[in-house]
Order: sequence, then C-alpha cells, then structure tokens
Amino acid sequence: MPNRSVPDAFEAGAFHPDHGNRRVSGTLRIDGGMVGFQGEAGFFAFPLDTVQVSLGGASDRLVFFAHENFPKVSIFTADQRILNHAAFAQNPTLTRARERIRRRKFLSRCLTLSLLGIIIAVLAGVWLAKKPMVMAIARQIPPEWETKLGETAFAQIRLRSKLITDDSIKKQLDRLAAPLLAVVPQDRYQFKLHLIEDASLNAFALPGGNVALHTGLLLAAETPEEVLGVLGHEIAHVTRQHGMRALVEGLGLYAVVTTFFGDVTGLAAILVNNAPFLLTQKFSRDHEREADEQGFRYLEAAKLNPRGLITFFEKMRREEEKLKEQLPGGEALDALSFLNTHPATVERMAQLEKLLTASARTNGFTTVDLDFKAFQAALRTKLSQPENQKKAEQSDAKKAK
Ligand SMILES: [Zn+2]
Repeated sequence: MPNRSVPDAFEAGAFHPDHGNRRVSGTLRIDGGMVGFQGEAGFFAFPLDTVQVSLGGASDRLVFFAHENFPKVSIFTADQRILNHAAFAQNPTLTRARERIRRRKFLSRCLTLSLLGIIIAVLAGVWLAKKPMVMAIARQIPPEWETKLGETAFAQIRLRSKLITDDSIKKQLDRLAAPLLAVVPQDRYQFKLHLIEDASLNAFALPGGNVALHTGLLLAAETPEEVLGVLGHEIAHVTRQHGMRALVEGLGLYAVVTTFFGDVTGLAAILVNNAPFLLTQKFSRDHEREADEQGFRYLEAAKLNPRGLITFFEKMRREEEKLKEQLPGGEALDALSFLNTHPATVERMAQLEKLLTASARTNGFTTVDLDFKAFQAALRTKLSQPENQKKAEQSDAKKAK
C-alpha cells in the first residue's frame, strides 16, 4: 500500500558533467529499482542495489544519492519524506542506509542536547560561583581601605546627625558592649560604637567597624540583652563584609578583573568614591539572614542570652502594627527604620528561634555588668537637657581634657 504522506516525485537538484558541472533543478523519483533524476537537460538514474545514500548540506538538511561508478554525479533533495518511501523498506541497501542516517540524526540530536546542557551547567556554575567569588574579592581588599571607606561614609553621618559625646554615657555604652566585642575577631577591624540622637528605633554599621545605635532604640529596649542582640547583628554585618560585598557586586566584572590582575589601586579609588552608597543601601535578605546567624553565634560565644534579639524583633513588630493602625498612610514607619532596613519578618524570628533550640547553651548566661535602667535614665536626662546647656557641658569636657 502506498504511503499517502510520501509523494511519488520529489523536488530535487543534481550535479552532472553533462549539465555543465553546476547545480540543476529537477525531479527525483524512485521507480523500477532505480533512483532517477529528471532535469531540463535530460534524465539519469542509479540502480538502487548499489546506490549510496547520505545526509549533507547545512544542518544535514539534504539527502544525497551517489554511485561509486559515477564520482562526479549526485542527486539531492531537501524533502526528507523520501526516507519514508516504500523502497527504503523493501531494498536492503536502502534499509541499511536509512538506519545509518537515523543513527546519525539521533547522535547529532544528543550532541545538541548535551551542548545545551553544558551551556546551562556553565551558566548555573557562574551564578553559583558569584557569591564565593564576591566574598573572595571582598577578603582581598586591605582592611585599611575598608576602614577608610567606612570613615568617609561616617563623616557624612557626623555632618547630618547629632552624636552623643558625653563621656560617662559613652563609657556605659562601651561597658555594655564589652563582653560581646571580646568574642568578635578584631584582627581586621577595630569597632567604634556611636550613639546618635534620634528617636527612631535604628542601628547601623559601616565597613571597617563604625557601629551606631540610635537613642530611640536604646531607650525602647527593656533589657541590655535586647541592645546586645541588635549590636551582635550589626557587628556581623561588618565582619561578614556585607557592605563591601554589596559594593563589589555592584562593580561586577571590573572588581573581578582588577583583583585578579593585581591592580587594586584603581579599585580602591572607585570604592572610596562609592562610600555614599553605603549610607543608602539596604542589605539583601541573604545578608540579613547571615547577620542574624553570625550575630547569634557571637552572643552564644559571649554567653549572652540571644533571646534578646528575638524579643526586640517582636517588640518592633508590635510597634509597627500599632503604627500601621494609627496611620494607615504608613508615613510613621520612619520611626521604625531599623525594621525598614531590617525586615523583621516572622521568618527571621522563627530562624533565630530554631538556632536557639539547637544551641548547646540554654542557661548559665552572663549577666551584663551595667545598671541598664540607670544608663537609660542618664541618657534620658541628657536628651531632655536644653541644647545650650549640653553644648556648654561638652566644651567643659573638652577643656578638662
Ligand atoms: Zn541588618
């Protein structure tokens, strides 16, 4: 039974010395044990028993018929339906040729797929390698540059914020942070704590080790552990180089190339020029999660109860909800900017809760060597003092030095 989807005649081309050795168009038919070509200039045919069939042309699009006795002659068609011609099932030479062709097609499809697979794997590898690459580059940056960068950014903060410089208050803050800082590696950074007069519940850290707490956050805390929880998180942003890593990621290929070719001076200049970026950036969720976990480890090592960070998160979440109810516009959320820059999602609290459950230390926590309530009271008194009185005190303190 003839296969209806296979035509009797196929559009074809041929090369033949009689046709001037150029490509001529015509029709191909398989009939009476022969494969024949009918062109304008005439007809010729190969016997099927000795014909050679192969694929050729771009992307193996063409089926070629040739014969070893006529090396300069060939017939070809782009119509691959010819491989389904009944003759390919009946004639053993053609059957074998068709099997060879199908094997070849299968292999080339496999090759295409595996090339595609390799490309996907390489792209995935580059994507996966990005994080360790950025980390490696950030580690290459000399600590002095990082400090300089952080100082440049902090100079901007000094210009636009009021820093509490009162010695007694600063000493109490240092005493509060001392057990925590004692466990943080200081080989790369020297941490400096600052207190900024600002009612919002915020804290931030800059590369190199400047860490700032807003007075609003300090006064809202119920326990010293809550403040230490936030500090541990901020210090972790510094030691894990989140600011630097965000900068390096932003610089992209330039940072990679300069670091690996050893010319880092250009990179230093660009980094310092980008210092203002540090003041507006938001850390990625990944970096926040990392800072939560690393901060937790510091608290654990310092034998400080890490639950403080969780209760502080919870406090801020409740505050946020209260503010949302009061002001549906959400403008008041600025007062909770630690939350805005540090999305205190339930997920993060759950993550900390998990770390706490898995922690080997469940009791025997160190008590902080500071009268926290007295510290807060002193701070409150300081803040309620009229401006000129504070200034007078400051200049007195300077004279005393
Ligand atoms: Zn953070």
